[in-house]
Amino acid sequence: MVRVTVPEADRLIGVKHPVLSHGYVVLVDYMGNDSAIVQAARVSYGQGTRSVRDDRGLIRYLMRHRHTTPFEMVEFKFLVRLPIFVARQWIRHRASSTNEYSARYSIVPDEYEIPPPDEVRHQSTRNRQGRGDPLATEVVERFRADLETVSKEAYAAYSRALEAGVARETARLVLPVAYYTQWYWKIDLHNLFHFLSLRLDPHAQEEIRLYAAELAKLAKVVCPVAFEAFEEFQVAGLTLGRRERMALRALLEGKSPSEACEVAGLPLTRPDGTPMTTGEGVEFLEKLERIRHID
Ligand SMILES: Cc1cc2nc3c(=O)[nH]c(=O)nc-3n(C[C@H](O)[C@H](O)[C@H](O)COP(=O)(O)OP(=O)(O)OC[C@H]3O[C@@H](n4cnc5c(N)ncnc54)[C@H](O)[C@@H]3O)c2cc1C
Repeated sequence: MVRVTVPEADRLIGVKHPVLSHGYVVLVDYMGNDSAIVQAARVSYGQGTRSVRDDRGLIRYLMRHRHTTPFEMVEFKFLVRLPIFVARQWIRHRASSTNEYSARYSIVPDEYEIPPPDEVRHQSTRNRQGRGDPLATEVVERFRADLETVSKEAYAAYSRALEAGVARETARLVLPVAYYTQWYWKIDLHNLFHFLSLRLDPHAQEEIRLYAAELAKLAKVVCPVAFEAFEEFQVAGLTLGRRERMALRALLEGKSPSEACEVAGLPLTRPDGTPMTTGEGVEFLEKLERIRHID
């Protein structure tokens, strides 16, 4: 038996893909490719399926029907350098293996993230967790200058503490979450798709989305057919709840979107009559927009 490899992916091993000011993603190693998914699936379905369904068709079938374990047969190992505030979001993805740089053993380098001016924006009114409209230039510049000052002062305090003999594990407490950490991260393709579906999404924070985009490019090289199926059925796919299906039926019967929402009990206004900016009705209208603007 010969180990399956992807020459194009082999050429990418060890290559740094920059993200943010000091971060990067490196593909360290991988195991398997599209054929590993097919091979695993055929163990359960048997060789008989080969005649009725080609490899691409089989992978797309598995993705559509959430037959997920064949996708777990492909593994990736990455080296990632990222700010601590991104790492805190990333580490929530438990179905993966992480080994992080230890700030108890080693000195944290003086590298921190200052967002570019167009990424410092107002609190979003629609997405309570996100950023929205642009801010006045002076507000943006003041924030960026403050972040620079705080980071420099924090690192000066860190250096003073180390010089005075404070243990590294204690001295690091002064460092803000804009500082960088790094880790090895190993994950299988199924869970990488889960990570990507959450972290490529516009609801995820911009900074982690940039990392997800780099991971996605690498996964696409190793497993182009599975990645195409992921984009088709997970990224571009839509799920509809019972009320949404009722609203869709009302639309097919000729009702307007707002009438359809009313029929289905999907609220678009508050009890005082003001329009809602979030909630099930608004999200249904967003899904309709996605359908209208499909490319
Ligand atoms: C846009 C966005 C906003 C978020 N906001 C917040 C927030 O405000 N606060 C916050 O705390 N988190 C927040 N999160 C993190 C989120 O709740 C999840 O913890 C994170 O996305 C990891 O997802 P996961 O648990 O599905 O992935 P993984 O941990 O990789 O797990 C994969 C799957 O394995 C299963 N699984 C793994 N471990 C367990 C377990 N112990 N028990 C049962 N099933 C398990 C689950 O089915 C899970 O979906 C946010 C995430 C996103 C994408």
